Amino acid sequence: MALNIPETKLKRLVVIGAGFAGLKLVKKLRASDYQIVLIDRHNFHQFQPLFYQVAVAGLEPSSISFPLRRMFQKNYRIFIRLTEVTHISTESKTVHTLHGELTYDLLVMATGAVTNFFGMNDLAQLSFGMKTVEEALGIRNTILKNYEMALVADTDEERNALMKIAIVGGGPTGVELSGALADMRRFVLPKDYPDLDFEQMEIFLIEASPGLLNGMSDKSSAKAADFLRGLGVNVMTNEQVVGYANNLVKFKDGKTLPSATLIWAAGVTGAPPAGFEDKHLGRGKRLMVDAFNRVKGFADVYAIGDIALMDGPDFPKGHPQVAQVAIQQANNLAANLKTKNSDNWKPFRYKDKGSMATIGRNKAVVDLPYLSFHGLFAWLVWMFVHLVSIIGVKNKIFIFINWIWNYFTYDQSLRLIIKQRVPKKE
Ligand SMILES: Cc1cc2nc3c(=O)[nH]c(=O)nc-3n(C[C@H](O)[C@H](O)[C@H](O)COP(=O)(O)OP(=O)(O)OC[C@H]3O[C@@H](n4cnc5c(N)ncnc54)[C@H](O)[C@@H]3O)c2cc1C
Repeated sequence: MALNIPETKLKRLVVIGAGFAGLKLVKKLRASDYQIVLIDRHNFHQFQPLFYQVAVAGLEPSSISFPLRRMFQKNYRIFIRLTEVTHISTESKTVHTLHGELTYDLLVMATGAVTNFFGMNDLAQLSFGMKTVEEALGIRNTILKNYEMALVADTDEERNALMKIAIVGGGPTGVELSGALADMRRFVLPKDYPDLDFEQMEIFLIEASPGLLNGMSDKSSAKAADFLRGLGVNVMTNEQVVGYANNLVKFKDGKTLPSATLIWAAGVTGAPPAGFEDKHLGRGKRLMVDAFNRVKGFADVYAIGDIALMDGPDFPKGHPQVAQVAIQQANNLAANLKTKNSDNWKPFRYKDKGSMATIGRNKAVVDLPYLSFHGLFAWLVWMFVHLVSIIGVKNKIFIFINWIWNYFTYDQSLRLIIKQRVPKKE
């Protein structure tokens, strides 16, 4: 197989990853005089901040995804290839994929991050991450199936484990998911399953550090914990999960918790394709870059977004792995790549626009650079920001209608357990 990219006199820019960073870069360079090859293992862009709503049956996956080919129709210098990059030979300037190889003049790594299970294989095998739309759908299917199974369970012990949900990681993902599940327990599931006792549906949010939402202000962290406790979520801080087997979550101090569902939202790590040496990787296996997002040690390889580690006085441990950093780095690199004289290139400066997390119906916490607030207004701000950020007018409209519908009916209408059937070829 071959990637079949035509040879031209234009410089070839290969971008790996169509997440927030890669996609923004290609959009900004669509009218430039590069031949651009965008490679991703998915044929769509995923809006990760709303994965949790797919997991609780609040949104369809198609509402938070956007097909890449649709975005670049009539852009004849942009080539999209759906494949997995397996290896990069920086000496021969070649990208190796599952479907052939390709040389580059310039390479941009925008491969994001993957769930970090900290080397615990049992957890990696048996728990759910939340880094892809497939995983979010897997969570939705499993939770719904567990309640069906709880109805036909033989023993109370079995039923008990099926009805509990444990989430590890008290960052925005864990907090938002716990809040949404608590709403589901209050408003939706008891109506669907009147013969189950929803007092038994316990939600545990487990965090190893002393507080939730570590990247946010102390005020927002405390408020988020208050909101969650008010919704009946068991917030467990200073607790470290070290294993999972036979539906039992194992803690470092030896105690266990029965739960048939374990969701792992406790951190991410870089996972660039093979070909980079240890000296190119910094903290969290991110590629170390200079102020222009050039990977240190190379003249023609760049990294942007979650995979890039740019240390500096403001961010000695690198920038936070959030969408705004990815988008701003892509904008800066695109502007630089359009400026042929590299003496005029601008170094990257991150403009922190703030952070936020929602905690169920009518509640959110928002930290702006000089202001922190919470409650209903914060929730409206959260909704507005997410609605304008999502790609595609149709997606915005669908999400808005879904939210209005769910708000006024206290219901989510997407509670389908969809199993995939793959035909056997042999
Ligand atoms: C559940 C969740 C909630 C979040 N909520 C927020 C939020 O509320 N606000 C916020 O600012 N940030 C949030 N984030 C973080 C934000 O989504 C990331 O910072 C952002 O996606 C980083 O963009 P990126 O382009 O670097 O990587 P990504 O968006 O992860 O994109 C990487 C792309 O590279 C592709 N790829 C990777 N390796 C290969 C390979 N070898 N071959 C082919 N393709 C490859 C992947 O398929 C993917 O499309 C959240 C993240 C998660 C997981």
